[in-house]
Amino acid sequence: MDMNLLTKAEILIVGAGFYGATLAERIATRLGRRVLVIDRRRHIGGNAYTEQDPVTGVEVHRYGPHLFHTPNEEVWTYLNNFTGFTSYRHRAFSTFCDKVYPLPINMATICQFFGRRLSPDEARALIASQASELGGRAPANLEEKAISLVGRPLYEAFIRGYTAKQWQTDPRELPAQIIARLPVRYTFEDGYFNDRFQGQPVDGYTAIFERMLAHDLIETRLGVDFFDIKASLPEGLPVVYTGPIDRYFDYCEGELGWRTIDIDLEVMNTPDHQGTAIMNYADEDVPYTRIVEFRHFNPERQHNSDKTLIGREFSRFARRADEPYYPIDTRGDQATYRRYLDRAANERGLHLGGRLGTYRYLDMHQAIGAALNAFETVFAPHFAGRPAPSSPSA
Ligand code: FAD
Ligand code: UDP
Repeated sequence: MDMNLLTKAEILIVGAGFYGATLAERIATRLGRRVLVIDRRRHIGGNAYTEQDPVTGVEVHRYGPHLFHTPNEEVWTYLNNFTGFTSYRHRAFSTFCDKVYPLPINMATICQFFGRRLSPDEARALIASQASELGGRAPANLEEKAISLVGRPLYEAFIRGYTAKQWQTDPRELPAQIIARLPVRYTFEDGYFNDRFQGQPVDGYTAIFERMLAHDLIETRLGVDFFDIKASLPEGLPVVYTGPIDRYFDYCEGELGWRTIDIDLEVMNTPDHQGTAIMNYADEDVPYTRIVEFRHFNPERQHNSDKTLIGREFSRFARRADEPYYPIDTRGDQATYRRYLDRAANERGLHLGGRLGTYRYLDMHQAIGAALNAFETVFAPHFAGRPAPSSPSA
């Protein structure tokens, strides 16, 4: 990388995912400051990166399926500056013992599973009786939380095996809040998300990042690892780091636990393999957690191929060389994370952000929302009153 870029930059952003791209765009557009964005990958977009599959022509989500949804109007309005959204509403299904059920668990799932027509009141009463083993005690872990929400039979069918495959951890060892991500409904509403704003970006996710970063004051350099240039940073250059926090400190306080996903892609000799975008597999003896069929994320597009692309997802613990996907966040992890936070507080000019930098499972809208918030509370005040050599008016 041309080291002059570092000298000219007023801020360095490490990571061209949603957190880094949002901050870069805001700092360049609103403050007129010169931003250098680097990413060690050879593409922008972070884990939301998508590209066209050369065989089938469908848009592949390289790091796993991404579905945009948010209750946050500010984030929605902001993102609409860079993309339109389709009317896609996500629906998911789960296969259990060779039968297909709608997810998240709703009246259709409950009636089908118990083989009878139930009213919402009857369904509530049935689930309450099946959840009564907790005896009113507050759930202490994922298993207890799930049983409190759906009762033991539905838990054992749709949650226990899937969660064990996804986390390779006994559900009794996992935090209760993981399962709170999955709504349970006593209506026949079968949309996966409750959020008011939903859809897929009309031209794909990568196009959003191209537009966000297409500003004269933003330079983006790909294939550049921060740790290869860290020693050459100009004194006082502010750094936004969105990589893993434990890596930043060279793992001196220990490694944080992450899960990663291996996606086995396969082109199938049929235009439609499963009739839907995501099919979960609840049985523990099926080795993958789910199958994604990418073309179904874009039903509005013409699909001319007689083939379709699918991905089988296998979940496992991440080692250092793997892509960290989901923070496991055990109590031990939380203690380790706090030690890293103490260290970060002593690093002048360092701002840790995003999913990896804050060791938090953030959805896209949360990563964007956190960056918009950091812009207002940290970066706008930081640059206020400092001469702006790169400002259009300077
Ligand atoms: P990232 O996108 O991870 O970007 C961080 C960037 O930093 C990466 O590009 C990385 O290469 C770069 N980097 C790291 N270290 C260095 C270094 N040393 N030097 C240079 N660059 C570095 N969210 C949703 O809203 N809906 C979904 O359906 C959804 N599905 C998901 C499915 C999967 C499998 C995964 C893993 C995530 C999913 N998410 C989803 C979450 C979404 O991916 C995140 O919210 C989003 O990626 C967060 O953006 P970020 O900028 O914090 O991190
Ligand atoms: N889950 C489950 N069965 C399913 C889908 C999800 O038990 O068919 C559980 C699983 O523990 C998962 C959690 O619900 O981690 C949250 O689901 P979500 O779809 O948000 O999965 P993630 O984003 O973690 O892949």
